[in-house]
Amino acid sequence: MLTVNACAVFVLQFVMYTGISSFLQWYFYNKGRDRTDDWKLQPPKHKIDPSVWWLPIFDWLTGYHKRGRHPWHTLLTTTNLLNSCCFSAGVTELYMRGKTKLLLLPSATELPGAAIVLPFLARYGGEAVAKATWMAVYSVAIFLIACLYQCVAEYYWHRVMHLPFFYRHLHKYHHYYTSPSPFDDMMIHPLEGTGYYIILYAPALMFPMPLHSFLAYMALMGLTGIFDHSGISIRFGVRGSAWFGYDSRDHDMHHMLYNCNYSFPFVFMDKIHGTYRSIDSVEPSLISGPDAQELMARLGKKQRRGEVTDERKLD
Ligand SMILES: [Zn+2]
Ligand SMILES: [Zn+2]
Repeated sequence: MLTVNACAVFVLQFVMYTGISSFLQWYFYNKGRDRTDDWKLQPPKHKIDPSVWWLPIFDWLTGYHKRGRHPWHTLLTTTNLLNSCCFSAGVTELYMRGKTKLLLLPSATELPGAAIVLPFLARYGGEAVAKATWMAVYSVAIFLIACLYQCVAEYYWHRVMHLPFFYRHLHKYHHYYTSPSPFDDMMIHPLEGTGYYIILYAPALMFPMPLHSFLAYMALMGLTGIFDHSGISIRFGVRGSAWFGYDSRDHDMHHMLYNCNYSFPFVFMDKIHGTYRSIDSVEPSLISGPDAQELMARLGKKQRRGEVTDERKLD
Protein backbone atom coordinates (compact mmCIF):
# COMPACT_ATOMS: atom_id res chain seq x y z
CA MET A 1 0.00 0.00 0.00
CA LEU A 2 1.38 3.39 -1.03
CA THR A 3 1.89 6.07 1.57
CA VAL A 4 -0.15 9.30 1.45
CA ASN A 5 3.05 11.16 0.58
CA ALA A 6 3.63 9.05 -2.54
CA CYS A 7 0.04 9.59 -3.70
CA ALA A 8 0.36 13.34 -3.02
CA VAL A 9 3.57 13.52 -5.06
CA PHE A 10 1.85 11.69 -7.95
CA VAL A 11 -0.90 14.34 -8.01
CA LEU A 12 1.60 17.20 -7.45
CA GLN A 13 3.73 16.09 -10.40
CA PHE A 14 0.66 15.91 -12.66
CA VAL A 15 -0.62 19.32 -11.55
CA MET A 16 2.78 21.05 -11.79
CA TYR A 17 3.58 19.65 -15.26
CA THR A 18 0.10 20.50 -16.55
CA GLY A 19 0.18 23.94 -14.94
CA ILE A 20 3.57 24.95 -16.33
CA SER A 21 2.86 23.63 -19.84
CA SER A 22 -0.59 25.25 -19.84
CA PHE A 23 0.91 28.56 -18.70
CA LEU A 24 3.43 28.49 -21.58
CA GLN A 25 0.64 27.75 -24.06
CA TRP A 26 -1.54 30.55 -22.68
CA TYR A 27 1.18 33.19 -22.19
CA PHE A 28 3.03 32.69 -25.48
CA TYR A 29 0.83 30.88 -28.00
CA ASN A 30 -2.40 32.56 -26.99
CA LYS A 31 -1.62 35.90 -25.34
CA GLY A 32 1.59 36.43 -27.36
CA ARG A 33 0.40 35.18 -30.73
CA ASP A 34 0.87 38.62 -32.31
CA ARG A 35 4.52 38.88 -31.35
CA THR A 36 5.85 35.44 -32.34
CA ASP A 37 9.00 37.02 -33.79
CA ASP A 38 10.03 37.77 -30.20
CA TRP A 39 9.84 34.21 -28.89
CA LYS A 40 8.96 31.50 -31.46
CA LEU A 41 11.87 29.25 -32.40
CA GLN A 42 10.57 27.68 -35.61
CA PRO A 43 7.60 28.33 -37.81
CA PRO A 44 4.84 25.88 -36.82
CA LYS A 45 4.37 22.96 -39.17
CA HIS A 46 0.60 23.34 -39.01
CA LYS A 47 -1.72 26.16 -38.05
CA ILE A 48 -2.93 25.34 -34.59
CA ASP A 49 -5.70 26.80 -32.48
CA PRO A 50 -4.10 28.42 -29.41
CA SER A 51 -7.46 29.10 -27.82
CA VAL A 52 -8.07 25.38 -27.22
CA TRP A 53 -6.30 23.74 -24.27
CA TRP A 54 -3.62 21.39 -25.66
CA LEU A 55 -3.54 19.10 -22.61
CA PRO A 56 -3.63 15.68 -24.33
CA ILE A 57 -6.11 14.09 -21.94
CA PHE A 58 -8.41 17.01 -22.75
CA ASP A 59 -8.38 15.84 -26.39
CA TRP A 60 -9.84 12.57 -25.24
CA LEU A 61 -12.60 14.27 -23.30
CA THR A 62 -13.57 16.74 -26.01
CA GLY A 63 -12.66 14.92 -29.21
CA TYR A 64 -10.57 17.91 -30.29
CA HIS A 65 -7.29 17.18 -32.10
CA LYS A 66 -4.64 19.64 -33.16
CA ARG A 67 -3.99 19.47 -36.89
CA GLY A 68 -0.93 17.45 -37.80
CA ARG A 69 -0.95 15.43 -34.60
CA HIS A 70 0.23 11.83 -34.66
CA PRO A 71 -2.77 9.48 -34.34
CA TRP A 72 -1.28 8.11 -31.11
CA HIS A 73 -0.43 11.55 -29.69
CA THR A 74 -3.03 11.55 -26.93
CA LEU A 75 -2.35 7.94 -25.94
CA LEU A 76 1.45 8.26 -25.85
CA THR A 77 1.66 11.68 -24.18
CA THR A 78 -0.92 10.78 -21.53
CA THR A 79 0.77 7.42 -20.86
CA ASN A 80 4.14 9.10 -20.42
CA LEU A 81 2.82 11.83 -18.17
CA LEU A 82 1.28 9.18 -15.93
CA ASN A 83 4.49 7.13 -16.18
CA SER A 84 6.57 10.09 -14.98
CA CYS A 85 4.10 10.64 -12.11
CA CYS A 86 4.50 6.95 -11.19
CA PHE A 87 8.28 7.37 -11.04
CA SER A 88 7.93 10.42 -8.78
CA ALA A 89 5.53 8.51 -6.54
CA GLY A 90 7.78 5.43 -6.62
CA VAL A 91 10.89 7.33 -5.54
CA THR A 92 8.84 9.04 -2.80
CA GLU A 93 7.62 5.64 -1.60
CA LEU A 94 11.18 4.30 -1.56
CA TYR A 95 12.27 7.39 0.34
CA MET A 96 9.51 6.96 2.93
CA ARG A 97 10.65 3.35 3.41
CA GLY A 98 14.29 4.42 3.82
CA LYS A 99 15.40 2.73 0.59
CA THR A 100 16.97 5.78 -1.08
CA LYS A 101 20.14 7.72 -0.28
CA LEU A 102 18.21 10.98 0.15
CA LEU A 103 18.77 12.83 3.43
CA LEU A 104 16.01 14.98 4.97
CA LEU A 105 17.51 18.12 6.51
CA PRO A 106 20.76 16.37 7.48
CA SER A 107 23.23 17.96 9.86
CA ALA A 108 26.65 18.75 8.40
CA THR A 109 28.19 15.93 10.44
CA GLU A 110 26.02 13.38 8.58
CA LEU A 111 27.32 14.40 5.17
CA PRO A 112 30.04 12.35 3.47
CA GLY A 113 33.52 13.73 4.06
CA ALA A 114 32.46 15.56 7.24
CA ALA A 115 35.03 13.80 9.43
CA ILE A 116 37.84 15.14 7.25
CA VAL A 117 36.49 18.48 6.07
CA LEU A 118 34.85 19.87 9.24
CA PRO A 119 38.01 19.88 11.45
CA PHE A 120 39.90 21.51 8.59
CA LEU A 121 37.30 24.24 8.08
CA ALA A 122 36.84 24.76 11.84
CA ARG A 123 40.46 25.94 12.08
CA TYR A 124 39.52 29.03 10.04
CA GLY A 125 36.06 30.03 11.25
CA GLY A 126 34.93 27.92 14.18
CA GLU A 127 32.62 24.92 14.31
CA ALA A 128 29.35 26.67 13.35
CA VAL A 129 30.85 28.34 10.28
CA ALA A 130 32.53 25.05 9.28
CA LYS A 131 29.20 23.18 9.41
CA ALA A 132 27.33 25.87 7.48
CA THR A 133 30.07 26.05 4.85
CA TRP A 134 30.25 22.28 4.36
CA MET A 135 26.47 22.02 4.13
CA ALA A 136 26.36 24.72 1.44
CA VAL A 137 29.34 23.38 -0.50
CA TYR A 138 28.13 19.76 -0.37
CA SER A 139 24.55 20.67 -1.33
CA VAL A 140 25.71 22.57 -4.42
CA ALA A 141 28.42 20.04 -5.34
CA ILE A 142 26.12 17.00 -5.21
CA PHE A 143 23.50 18.92 -7.22
CA LEU A 144 26.11 19.64 -9.89
CA ILE A 145 27.32 16.01 -9.84
CA ALA A 146 23.74 14.78 -10.37
CA CYS A 147 23.31 17.20 -13.30
CA LEU A 148 26.65 16.10 -14.75
CA TYR A 149 25.71 12.42 -14.42
CA GLN A 150 22.32 13.03 -16.08
CA CYS A 151 23.84 14.86 -19.04
CA VAL A 152 26.45 12.13 -19.60
CA ALA A 153 24.10 9.14 -19.17
CA GLU A 154 21.30 10.73 -21.17
CA TYR A 155 23.68 11.61 -24.01
CA TYR A 156 24.71 7.97 -24.58
CA TRP A 157 21.15 6.72 -24.04
CA HIS A 158 19.96 9.18 -26.68
CA ARG A 159 22.72 8.14 -29.09
CA VAL A 160 21.61 4.51 -28.68
CA MET A 161 18.04 5.60 -29.45
CA HIS A 162 19.31 6.94 -32.78
CA LEU A 163 20.71 3.56 -33.86
CA PRO A 164 18.47 2.32 -36.70
CA PHE A 165 16.84 -0.53 -34.74
CA PHE A 166 15.95 1.61 -31.71
CA TYR A 167 15.00 4.59 -33.83
CA ARG A 168 12.66 2.56 -35.99
CA HIS A 169 10.91 0.86 -33.05
CA LEU A 170 11.07 3.51 -30.31
CA HIS A 171 12.58 6.93 -30.89
CA LYS A 172 10.80 7.86 -34.13
CA TYR A 173 7.70 8.76 -32.11
CA HIS A 174 9.59 11.45 -30.22
CA HIS A 175 10.85 12.84 -33.52
CA TYR A 176 7.43 13.00 -35.11
CA TYR A 177 7.33 16.72 -34.32
CA THR A 178 10.10 18.74 -35.92
CA SER A 179 8.76 21.93 -34.36
CA PRO A 180 7.50 20.87 -30.90
CA SER A 181 5.15 22.93 -28.76
CA PRO A 182 3.92 22.54 -25.13
CA PHE A 183 2.95 18.96 -24.14
CA ASP A 184 4.94 17.44 -27.06
CA ASP A 185 7.80 16.55 -24.69
CA MET A 186 5.70 13.60 -23.51
CA MET A 187 5.46 12.21 -27.04
CA ILE A 188 7.74 9.25 -26.31
CA HIS A 189 7.37 5.50 -26.70
CA PRO A 190 6.66 4.23 -23.14
CA LEU A 191 9.67 1.89 -23.22
CA GLU A 192 12.00 4.72 -24.15
CA GLY A 193 10.33 6.94 -21.56
CA THR A 194 10.85 4.32 -18.86
CA GLY A 195 14.56 4.06 -19.70
CA TYR A 196 14.90 7.82 -19.57
CA TYR A 197 13.08 8.08 -16.23
CA ILE A 198 15.35 5.41 -14.73
CA ILE A 199 18.34 7.60 -15.69
CA LEU A 200 16.60 10.75 -14.46
CA TYR A 201 15.55 9.47 -11.02
CA ALA A 202 18.63 7.29 -10.37
CA PRO A 203 20.55 9.96 -8.36
CA ALA A 204 18.08 9.35 -5.51
CA LEU A 205 19.49 5.83 -5.25
CA MET A 206 23.09 6.56 -6.27
CA PHE A 207 24.29 9.60 -4.35
CA PRO A 208 23.90 10.60 -0.68
CA MET A 209 21.92 13.75 -1.48
CA PRO A 210 20.22 16.21 0.85
CA LEU A 211 16.57 16.24 -0.17
CA HIS A 212 16.75 19.91 -1.13
CA SER A 213 19.59 19.18 -3.59
CA PHE A 214 17.58 16.37 -5.20
CA LEU A 215 14.47 18.55 -5.46
CA ALA A 216 16.54 21.34 -7.06
CA TYR A 217 17.96 18.79 -9.54
CA MET A 218 14.49 17.47 -10.39
CA ALA A 219 13.09 21.00 -10.74
CA LEU A 220 15.88 21.97 -13.16
CA MET A 221 15.51 18.80 -15.24
CA GLY A 222 11.70 19.01 -15.25
CA LEU A 223 11.58 22.67 -16.25
CA THR A 224 14.24 22.40 -18.94
CA GLY A 225 12.53 19.27 -20.33
CA ILE A 226 9.37 21.35 -20.80
CA PHE A 227 11.29 24.36 -22.16
CA ASP A 228 13.26 22.15 -24.60
CA HIS A 229 10.02 21.18 -26.35
CA SER A 230 8.08 24.42 -25.94
CA GLY A 231 9.10 26.05 -29.23
CA ILE A 232 9.83 29.15 -27.12
CA SER A 233 13.22 30.85 -26.90
CA ILE A 234 14.27 30.55 -23.25
CA ARG A 235 17.83 31.06 -22.03
CA PHE A 236 19.47 31.42 -18.64
CA GLY A 237 22.88 31.14 -17.02
CA VAL A 238 26.10 32.07 -18.75
CA ARG A 239 25.13 32.92 -22.32
CA GLY A 240 26.77 30.60 -24.87
CA SER A 241 28.33 28.39 -22.17
CA ALA A 242 27.91 24.64 -22.66
CA TRP A 243 28.55 24.04 -18.94
CA PHE A 244 26.78 26.93 -17.22
CA GLY A 245 24.32 28.20 -19.78
CA TYR A 246 20.95 26.86 -20.96
CA ASP A 247 19.36 27.60 -24.33
CA SER A 248 16.08 25.99 -25.41
CA ARG A 249 17.15 26.42 -29.04
CA ASP A 250 19.67 23.58 -28.62
CA HIS A 251 17.18 20.72 -28.22
CA ASP A 252 14.78 22.41 -30.62
CA MET A 253 17.62 22.15 -33.15
CA HIS A 254 17.75 18.41 -32.46
CA HIS A 255 14.10 18.07 -33.45
CA MET A 256 14.66 20.25 -36.49
CA LEU A 257 17.87 18.69 -37.81
CA TYR A 258 17.75 15.25 -36.13
CA ASN A 259 21.50 14.50 -36.17
CA CYS A 260 22.94 16.99 -33.66
CA ASN A 261 22.51 18.23 -30.08
CA TYR A 262 21.72 14.89 -28.44
CA SER A 263 22.53 16.15 -24.94
CA PHE A 264 20.13 18.05 -22.73
CA PRO A 265 19.65 20.30 -20.91
CA PHE A 266 23.32 21.29 -21.26
CA VAL A 267 25.27 20.60 -24.42
CA PHE A 268 28.82 19.97 -23.21
CA MET A 269 28.66 16.30 -24.23
CA ASP A 270 27.85 17.38 -27.78
CA LYS A 271 30.76 19.80 -27.68
CA ILE A 272 33.06 16.98 -26.49
CA HIS A 273 31.82 14.56 -29.18
CA GLY A 274 31.63 17.12 -31.97
CA THR A 275 27.85 16.75 -32.40
CA TYR A 276 26.92 20.27 -31.33
CA ARG A 277 25.29 22.67 -33.78
CA SER A 278 24.16 26.16 -32.93
CA ILE A 279 21.46 27.85 -34.97
CA ASP A 280 24.11 30.21 -36.30
CA SER A 281 26.31 27.39 -37.62
CA VAL A 282 23.71 25.38 -39.53
CA GLU A 283 24.96 24.23 -42.89
CA PRO A 284 22.23 24.30 -45.54
CA SER A 285 23.01 20.68 -46.47
CA LEU A 286 22.05 19.57 -42.94
CA ILE A 287 18.58 21.00 -43.21
CA SER A 288 15.85 18.64 -44.34
CA GLY A 289 12.32 17.66 -43.58
CA PRO A 290 8.94 19.31 -44.13
CA ASP A 291 9.98 22.53 -42.39
CA ALA A 292 13.14 22.99 -44.47
CA GLN A 293 11.86 25.63 -46.83
CA GLU A 294 10.32 27.78 -44.10
CA LEU A 295 13.39 27.37 -41.96
CA MET A 296 15.75 28.22 -44.78
CA ALA A 297 13.80 31.37 -45.50
CA ARG A 298 14.05 32.28 -41.83
CA LEU A 299 17.78 31.62 -41.81
CA GLY A 300 18.30 33.29 -45.16
CA LYS A 301 20.07 30.23 -46.57
CA LYS A 302 19.73 28.21 -49.72
CA GLN A 303 19.31 24.44 -49.72
CA ARG A 304 21.62 22.25 -51.77
CA ARG A 305 19.39 19.52 -53.10
CA GLY A 306 20.39 15.83 -53.05
CA GLU A 307 22.79 16.11 -50.11
CA VAL A 308 20.38 15.35 -47.31
CA THR A 309 20.68 12.27 -45.15
CA ASP A 310 17.59 11.98 -43.04
CA GLU A 311 17.05 8.79 -41.04
CA ARG A 312 13.44 9.78 -40.45
CA LYS A 313 12.97 8.18 -43.83
CA LEU A 314 13.38 4.88 -42.04
CA ASP A 315 9.64 5.07 -41.62
ZN1 LIG B 1 16.58 12.16 -30.82
ZN1 LIG C 1 13.02 16.00 -27.64
